Amino acid sequence: MSSGRVAVLSSRQLAAVDIRKLPRIGETQAKHLKKLGIQTLFDLLYYLPRRYEDRRITPSLSALNSGDLATVRGIITGVEEHSLRSNLTLQRVFLECGSLEVAAIWFNQGFLKKVLRPGSILTVTGKVKKNLFGFEITVSDYEVGNPRFPVHTARIVPVYSITEDLSQRAFRRLMFDCLRSFVRRVRDSLPLELKEVYDLPSLPEALFQVHFPRSFESLEKARERLSFEELFLFQSGLLMLQEEVRNEGVSRIPVTDLPHRFLDSLPFSLTSAQLQVLREIERDLASPRKMYRLLQGDVGCGKTVVALYALFYTVAAGYQGAFMAPTEVLAEQHYLSLQRYAKPLGVSVGLLTGSLSRKEREEQLKKLRAGEIDIAVGTHALLQEDVVFHNLGLVVIDEQHRFGVRQRDLLLQKSATADVLVMTATPIPRSLTLTVYGDLDLSVIKEMPPGRKEVKTYFLPSEQKARVYQFLRKELQAGRQVYVVCPLIEESEKLEVEAAVRRAEELKAEFPEYQVGLLHGKMRIEEKERVMEAFRNGEVQILVSTSVIEVGIDVPNASVMVIEGAERFGLAQLHQLRGRVGRGASQSYCILVGNPQTDEARQRIKVLLKYSDGFKIAEEDLRLRGPGELLGTRQHGFSDFRVVDIFRDACLLPKTREAALKFREKLSKELLDEIDFRFPELKNGIKC
Ligand code: ADP
Ligand code: MG
Repeated sequence: MSSGRVAVLSSRQLAAVDIRKLPRIGETQAKHLKKLGIQTLFDLLYYLPRRYEDRRITPSLSALNSGDLATVRGIITGVEEHSLRSNLTLQRVFLECGSLEVAAIWFNQGFLKKVLRPGSILTVTGKVKKNLFGFEITVSDYEVGNPRFPVHTARIVPVYSITEDLSQRAFRRLMFDCLRSFVRRVRDSLPLELKEVYDLPSLPEALFQVHFPRSFESLEKARERLSFEELFLFQSGLLMLQEEVRNEGVSRIPVTDLPHRFLDSLPFSLTSAQLQVLREIERDLASPRKMYRLLQGDVGCGKTVVALYALFYTVAAGYQGAFMAPTEVLAEQHYLSLQRYAKPLGVSVGLLTGSLSRKEREEQLKKLRAGEIDIAVGTHALLQEDVVFHNLGLVVIDEQHRFGVRQRDLLLQKSATADVLVMTATPIPRSLTLTVYGDLDLSVIKEMPPGRKEVKTYFLPSEQKARVYQFLRKELQAGRQVYVVCPLIEESEKLEVEAAVRRAEELKAEFPEYQVGLLHGKMRIEEKERVMEAFRNGEVQILVSTSVIEVGIDVPNASVMVIEGAERFGLAQLHQLRGRVGRGASQSYCILVGNPQTDEARQRIKVLLKYSDGFKIAEEDLRLRGPGELLGTRQHGFSDFRVVDIFRDACLLPKTREAALKFREKLSKELLDEIDFRFPELKNGIKC
């Protein structure tokens, strides 16, 4: 192949080559390419085809039918042009293909007369029409002559996502020429041994084949090699990060019996799944290695209790804890439930959200700095620079898949040594977890607290409100309580609040013999707590709420959850809301009310009617929306994959993980540099 004298180029070096330096790329073309995100040689080489067309020469024309796609090669026997209308011309070229004659036609391509000469060889690809005289092909692409390396026809041809400024032909030609001149100089940094063990082609071979494959088999191999490499680099980087991070921990051992007193104060005993996770967390906290753990489990499985235990454990060891939620409402709810346990135990809890007045905030900050607050609950507000802890020991992040790695890391900077527990209710398939949370250890709670009942779920169109009320009346008369959640109005919280107020009035008129409570985001926290308390102790029977209610209230006697405008909620949210009922002895119901207009909205509702298992629902969600939305990949930080498609390539994850573990001690300097270059996020990762 290449002579030893030609210098090989690392990805970083390829990325230092401006495409304008390449032959035949001028300013205009550079501008068009920039729109595709292509500015360097590296960008270009890794701009992979969107799809491929099989334009290999069709072996037998006689087997073709009208409408088939075909590629034929022959000798030009005639060229003619006809004017069909004032602005429409037809070019027809006759080709002799063995014993058959084929007519190839174009429209409005007048220049072809000059290019296509009788006697020369031509390959055309396009749709076939059979007529009296034989075959006619409406040409979609062609290639003149009999090139040693065909680009546009007579092969499997790449099709790229490009803008209208560029043509497929021009882009394909550019890619081909670029590969021909540079691909052999691309440095292959994977260890030889690894390539042998996993049977991977070389990088230059893979790059060439992924653009211009010899066969579909070689395309598959090329793609696998590129994905393998990318995942291997990623996982190797994660392992290093993990090493570094884990070594900076502190051993935390309780010096009081606070953790036990907390457990004793619970009105229930923990499930064995919860207990097992407690053990895992205790072990992590006590170890001098840093905890970095993901706690995963369906809505209502009891993750929060476990997190609270970890916080009390940390406080008992003499450190502060932080509990971060993605929204104010959730932060407030965590604050309130934490308060209820903490107060009797003599633990002080502070709340830090964006809606504190400046004075309140100053005060909280002062206490936090002085160590007078043991546990701080909050939103992003915890991340602000002036938030300083006295000695932060544990950060709990209730992720609800809404935080990104970056935000998580910001909080960790508050203390390099703090242990970390991330909670998520999204049961992400293990394979995907590895990419988003690959640097975390995993704990899973698979079991629900005893006594949870399957909730019967129904859908009713909005017009049938009378039937909903009829049903509510029956349940209320039986002594049960009900939730009514008003439609989510993303554009305006004000409108949402207004709608909830109206609905509450309506329900008061409809059910004068019952108490109606109202909960919305514009209320002060004390007010909310009062309403929730009234619902909890049964003074209020109907609780109307905006979409904010989401989590937090646990009232076993509540047996109906009505969700209005159900089509406006996401699947995860609907599942969350439904999880509020089904906690007592009686049969519970979830009534979805709405007018779904789109197919997707109808699908969502169907999924909810059909499944009750959060895992199944998350899978369906994934199918309906794609992984980006579900995982929040747009912000998760590791979105730098160029080749990997996490669904297609999930099967490579275990293999690449294994490879990364096996080769962790043997990474060359070049390979380390490659990791740095491809995944700067990892490098900046935890420590910044
Ligand atoms: P998650 O955070 O996983 O959604 P929570 O921790 O909020 O779930 O728990 C849901 C409800 O179940 C809470 O009200 C909690 O008090 C209750 N709970 C938690 N663990 C148990 C248990 N082992 N037995 C009975 N109830 C429990
Ligand atoms: Mg929860």
